[in-house]
Amino acid sequence: MNCEQSQEMLLSDYHDGRLSAHQRREIDQHLTVCPACKLLSERIYDQTIKPFNQTEHAMPDDFCWSQIKRRIAQVPAPAPKPFWLLRPALVFSSLCVMLMIGGVIFKQYTISQTPSIAYMLSSDTDTNDEVSASIEEYFL
Ligand SMILES: [Zn+2]
Repeated sequence: MNCEQSQEMLLSDYHDGRLSAHQRREIDQHLTVCPACKLLSERIYDQTIKPFNQTEHAMPDDFCWSQIKRRIAQVPAPAPKPFWLLRPALVFSSLCVMLMIGGVIFKQYTISQTPSIAYMLSSDTDTNDEVSASIEEYFL
């Protein structure tokens, strides 16, 4: 690891504890051999981490907590969303299935209402004109 990589990590994730164990080990090794990076690391720690380590956790008093709880209780709860807004994919897929089932039922119904081939063939159908005439009679 070179100084540029080390300093970049020292300024970003090293002191926040966000590096992997391998990355942290590499920086620690570099800090043992590089006085410039070690000095930078100490300055970063002294100026950004150390002041917050010495502060006390401030807790609000009981009156402040009671006021916070009172104001939270005054906020109305949000209205529940309708079902179709919570699960739009489920509603859409259900509609598609219902349309498909409706289409199949409609098609079965319309097929049963159309003239059957047996009717058309049962007539005197020696010529095409007679078949056409019997179909026209059926629809009229
Ligand atoms: Zn260095």
